[in-house]
Amino acid sequence: MSIVEKLVRQELVAMVPYQSARRLYSSNSSSVQGQITENIWLNANEASGAGNYLIESDGINRYPDFQPENLMQAYSQYSGLSTTCILATRGADEGIELLIRTFCRAYQDSILICPPTYGMYAISAQTHGANIVKVPLNDELQLDVDGLAAQVGQVKVVFLCSPGNPTGNTLTIDSIKASLALFADSAIVVVDEAYIEFCPAHSVIELLEQYPHLVILRTLSKAFALAGLRCGFTLANSEVIQLLSKVIAPYPIAAPVAEIASKSLSAQGLAEVNQRVQQTTQSRQTLSLWLDQQTWCKRVFKSDANFILCEIVNHNVKQYIFDYLKQQGILIRDQSSQLSLSNCLRISIGSEGELSRIKDSLIAAISAKSTQER
Ligand SMILES: *Cc1c(COP(=O)(O)O)cnc(C)c1O
Repeated sequence: MSIVEKLVRQELVAMVPYQSARRLYSSNSSSVQGQITENIWLNANEASGAGNYLIESDGINRYPDFQPENLMQAYSQYSGLSTTCILATRGADEGIELLIRTFCRAYQDSILICPPTYGMYAISAQTHGANIVKVPLNDELQLDVDGLAAQVGQVKVVFLCSPGNPTGNTLTIDSIKASLALFADSAIVVVDEAYIEFCPAHSVIELLEQYPHLVILRTLSKAFALAGLRCGFTLANSEVIQLLSKVIAPYPIAAPVAEIASKSLSAQGLAEVNQRVQQTTQSRQTLSLWLDQQTWCKRVFKSDANFILCEIVNHNVKQYIFDYLKQQGILIRDQSSQLSLSNCLRISIGSEGELSRIKDSLIAAISAKSTQER
């Protein structure tokens, strides 16, 4: 046994890290049969198209502010919250980790998740040594409020995701309020709103004032098209924000990140977000209708986000479609291993060109398969 093996926390040895889209496939173009092809990335719910920001490097010799003032003002204006209720983080993912580290004692306390759901809640819990309690979503992909009630007192942080990833649907505001009531004396209730710009009417931001144990997660990675920037926001009452501020690193937001993020929240930046949301919604509806008409597609899940989840008729066809697209350099996400999502694939809404490429490839794939089988 090496010294490292002897020293490491044993539970980390067997742990499988988060299989992010970028770990599964690095963003270099791949080579198919010796030919270099540009991949089409529809596997991480990113926006399509390149960003266009210039940054100044004046002052880069200095450490940045703990929470850069220009950025805080910009998000405060956008969200309507006071800056004391906002923490800027290295993506929403860092917010998830901070919440667990701040509220869960390692090897004693638990988080609660509602699968099928976003994978990072469980990964962050594992790396911190927090236990994971699961209360699956019901058949309508909504909260099982009775199941949640049975866990009151057993958990410290509850993660709800609305719109859900990979499911795409929003949770009803009533069920979120019911959860807040259940855990009013015993747990922090986190509502992950990573996709909320695609359905702003479903936000629970207005409940923050009323519920001191409510926390909302936001990100610039999806509707703001800035996944590479790594910038997110945790919204909560100032008492929670002050505690998280003790746990976060001293300079969490790099100066160039603050600069670009602030620009993305300017009037012009927000107008672009608005346009992107409209375009995405339209493309999603078109793709959704088309998928619904395909014989190999058993079910298209209703989505309020920038992706579509669909169930394929059986395992063989699902695998064939996934592999065929991959071989064509079109990357989507297989969600089959998620609870109750066997044979489900998730497709991010890319540009119109990308979506017409994936449709063409799917048509070609199915027709090649039926020729083979004849
Ligand atoms: C993408 C995503 C995140 C992470 O966002 P980052 O800001 O890129 O870390 C968090 N939650 C959900 C549900 C997501 O889909």
